[in-house]
Amino acid sequence: GRHTYRFFEPDMDAKVRERRQLEGDLRHAIAQGGREGGLEVYYQPCLGLKDDRITGCEALVRWRHPERGWVSPADFIPIAEDTGLINEIGEWVLATACRDAASWPDDIRLAVNVSPVQFKSGTLALKIMAALATSNLPASRLELEITEAVLIRDDDAALAILHQLRAIGVRIALDDFGTGYSSLSYLHRFPFDKIKIDRCFVEDIARPDGSASIVQAVVNLAAARRMTTTAEGVETEEQQRLLRTLGCSEMQGYLFSAAKPADKMLELFALHRSR
Ligand code: C2E
Ligand code: CA
Ligand code: CA
Ligand code: CA
Repeated sequence: GRHTYRFFEPDMDAKVRERRQLEGDLRHAIAQGGREGGLEVYYQPCLGLKDDRITGCEALVRWRHPERGWVSPADFIPIAEDTGLINEIGEWVLATACRDAASWPDDIRLAVNVSPVQFKSGTLALKIMAALATSNLPASRLELEITEAVLIRDDDAALAILHQLRAIGVRIALDDFGTGYSSLSYLHRFPFDKIKIDRCFVEDIARPDGSASIVQAVVNLAAARRMTTTAEGVETEEQQRLLRTLGCSEMQGYLFSAAKPADKMLELFALHRSR
């Protein structure tokens, strides 16, 4: 009867409503495109550890909610993946980022995150080729960051897409390395160009009995298979120094720069070049 409403778990109910609300707001933000109240793309630069040159930038989506302020991608990407909205978001981020990157110095690569869900749509390769053609960005300057979840079910369709993209010159990086279940077996399934070493290993690399030996092992493994390595989440000089000693190729993190809007990146490129 009416009174039983009181016995529903109020917390669960509130969470479901909150999620629906956020989903609706996200749909609205997507419809806005790059206009006021829409999504934005920020870029975080990657620094070569040998020569201190900027080697590339990673596109990271940003959402400024009209009432809540910045909503973290860690909160809205999972909702977008559950609802399929990630397909639209991913396509928009890709198109926007390729267009921005086309005006960068031509030795600076663009890295874009691709969700496992996007591999299920069947049109991913075509969409990527279209974004490259429209923006005039050479395929060799685009790098896709995927997680092992893409290859988790021995997915032949996903593998075919990766091979197809690689054949036209797009680079493929394995993101968040070391955080999943059986990472080593995934290295065997596809010839990745790069391994991104997750922030959790960088975090305690300087601690005695920390992760330095693990990072060393990953760097050696990568070198043996002709892959480069990028360390994520580098925040201190000491971490940078250790990573350099261990032979890691590149680093990314707040120590060098957080993610920033496209115009700020252009300023950073100019500044960095004139040093
Ligand atoms: P990710 O791909 O591992 O991206 C790295 C995250 O670490 C970013 O968080 C970045 O801002 C943050 N970060 C960078 N340097 C540092 C540092 O020195 N210290 C700390 N504490 N954090 C650092 P962000 O932008 O909040 O993104 C979170 C995750 O959301 C990303 O993790 C990625 O999985 C996902 N994501 C972001 N943008 C996109 C997108 O366009 N498409 C897809 N599919 N996923 C995205
Ligand atoms: Ca990434
Ligand atoms: Ca990552
Ligand atoms: Ca990560």
